[in-house]
Amino acid sequence: MAYKIDKNRKQPYCLAPFASPAITPDGFKMCSAPCSKSYKDVSFWNGDEMQRIRRQWINGEVPAECTECYFTTHGVITSNKVPNKTEIPLNFKDLYIARSNKCDLACEMCSATISHTWDKVWNEGKVGIVENDFDLSEFLHETEVCAISGGNPVLDHKINDIIKGLDRNKIKRFLITTNGSVFPDKMLNNILDKKFKCGVMLIFSIDGPKEFNEKARLGAKQERIYKTINSVIERTRDEPNIEICVEFTGTNQSVRHLIGLYEEIKENLPIAPYMIGNVCAYPENLALQNLDDETWEYMKNELYRYFLKRENKCELASYFSAMVDKYCSVVHKHKLKFN
Ligand code: SF4
Ligand code: SF4
Repeated sequence: MAYKIDKNRKQPYCLAPFASPAITPDGFKMCSAPCSKSYKDVSFWNGDEMQRIRRQWINGEVPAECTECYFTTHGVITSNKVPNKTEIPLNFKDLYIARSNKCDLACEMCSATISHTWDKVWNEGKVGIVENDFDLSEFLHETEVCAISGGNPVLDHKINDIIKGLDRNKIKRFLITTNGSVFPDKMLNNILDKKFKCGVMLIFSIDGPKEFNEKARLGAKQERIYKTINSVIERTRDEPNIEICVEFTGTNQSVRHLIGLYEEIKENLPIAPYMIGNVCAYPENLALQNLDDETWEYMKNELYRYFLKRENKCELASYFSAMVDKYCSVVHKHKLKFN
């Protein structure tokens, strides 16, 4: 059953299928949402399936492929503009790239297409490093948004060539996400040498205080992560357009550890990093929306009040408060729509 778009929203459309394909280690997708299907060949971009998906958005319908994402996380490129084209010339103006699944961790919510170490721990999926060697050289000069993830992209030396190929006068936003085990000088120098004029986000993934994070993100060493972040803070201190961020993936388990993480970050980092609250939609057993009643009660009461009390006194608490607000809203909307 196809749902209608929610006209009560300020930005009811997701324009991701009208922007650029996302690049993954094993192919290409219509957007960077984890649930989005992967295609081997980039020619999918104007194939029958994509044209049908665009036609549905144009007609005010949420395609089946988008339902869960649209009604839980809202989609990645939201807009009030009604899209109108079923064919979009291949471009990478919005470059969302996870080029390789090379990673040194095996996080519980990750998959083999994103981390090659995942299979060794969980004993299913694929083994080995997969790389997407699609040649971007003819497209990079027009890239406006560049979001690099992995695997752990700082371990992938070919990312340096992509950064070098970007036009600093064209780029409006640059982001790279890593797990904090290391941030090689070569890549950081490369980013600094680029002298981007736009906002740059260096994002480190942490899903809880030491004990929880090291369990959920197998292979993570918390002291090492803070050491990496602190050295990057030191190197970028005089770069006003570079922002240090911590990305938290909200699973139905990790949300119980937000207060612990808040306290730990305050002790370990000299500045308040901007906090990004990622919503875990897969796998089902960890998906935020599939939380038990006790956790839901905790989130909307104790957790919500904890950050609400502090949000006006502390910048970091205000970021956490916004995250908790978002997570409560995701769960609430999901319950209204699907229960
Ligand atoms: S709604 Fe979600 S799945 Fe659909 S195109 Fe947008 S981001 Fe992708
Ligand atoms: S660090 Fe990222 S890519 Fe690596 S296993 Fe964890 S979630 Fe997956």
